[in-house]
This record gives sequence, C-alpha cells and structure tokens, in this order.
Amino acid sequence: MDWLLIFPLKNMANSTQKKFSISRSHIDGVGLYVNHPYKKGDFIAYIEGEKVVIKKFTPSLSKMGWNWIGTSRYTWINTDKSPFRYINHSCDPNVAIRGERTVYALRSISKGEEITMDYSLTECQDDWLIPRCQCSSSNCRKVIRSIQYLDNNTFKQKKSFIPKKFQEIFINMRKKNT
Ligand SMILES: [Zn+2]
Repeated sequence: MDWLLIFPLKNMANSTQKKFSISRSHIDGVGLYVNHPYKKGDFIAYIEGEKVVIKKFTPSLSKMGWNWIGTSRYTWINTDKSPFRYINHSCDPNVAIRGERTVYALRSISKGEEITMDYSLTECQDDWLIPRCQCSSSNCRKVIRSIQYLDNNTFKQKKSFIPKKFQEIFINMRKKNT
C-alpha cells in the first residue's frame, strides 16, 4: 500500500475519501480500489468536481482533460480533486454512471477490488482514443474510441447502463450516417 502515501486522497469529502484506495493496477499505472464490498446495483459514490464546458479542443487542453468524465456533448466533470481521476477503463467494467454523477455497481464487487468503467460510454469527443487497451477482458475492443464508434452489438449489450445523453448521441449519429 505504498502507493497510498504517494497518492494521498486529499482535498475531498472525508466520506468519499474513506471509500477508496489508490494502488498499482495491471491495467494502467494506478487504479481505484474499493474499501467496502458492494452488491449489484448498489450506489458507490457521486463524482465530485466542477463542470467544464469546451466546444473546441486544442492539443494542450486535450492533455488536461485526460481524466475528465463526460456528462454530455462538450461537457465534462473535472475529476482533478476526485478519486475518480484514478478509475481505469475496462471493456468489461464493474461500475457505470447513472445520470451524470452517480456511480453504481454493475455486479458484486469485493472489498479491495479495483473498480473500472467503460470510458466509451461517457465520451463523445470525436478524436478521443485509447490506442491499445490493456484491460485484458475476453471482450476487449483493443482500440477504444468514443460512443459513436461502438458497434451495434456492443451498444445493444451495454445500452441499459449507458447514460441517456450518450445513448441519444449514438442513435443520432447512426441516423445521420444511414
Ligand atoms: Zn479492453
């Protein structure tokens, strides 16, 4: 748990801080781990942080926004002071977002397990990309892009936990392209 000393969860509500640990992850650098077990459907936390609205990205802004979480087109939550800046992507995630900020469990999660979300489900920036996904799940999509690039089958499988606004973005893009 040395990583806790390197990445202390400072400047955030105590209640949120106590729920998580930051530790090394096989997916990417460090990841977000839960200090309590959760059952499928359980509320885990709200994502705190101010909303950022950007209509046009510059290369330096793109770098800044690497850990932000999308809430709709052009709008993100700045997670710089939130434990969710450490959450890793997985193509087979164990948490998802309801509405804009409510994180809940997609299945049972053990105490000490890393939590992951599918980044594609809350991102619609056209040039956003993870070139080589390291999640190692059996359904890994390898190249991870924003919601509009999901294939129809993946969209159908995941629809029940894709935030409404991103479902709409996916559906509208399909309409435009047909
Ligand atoms: Zn993957």
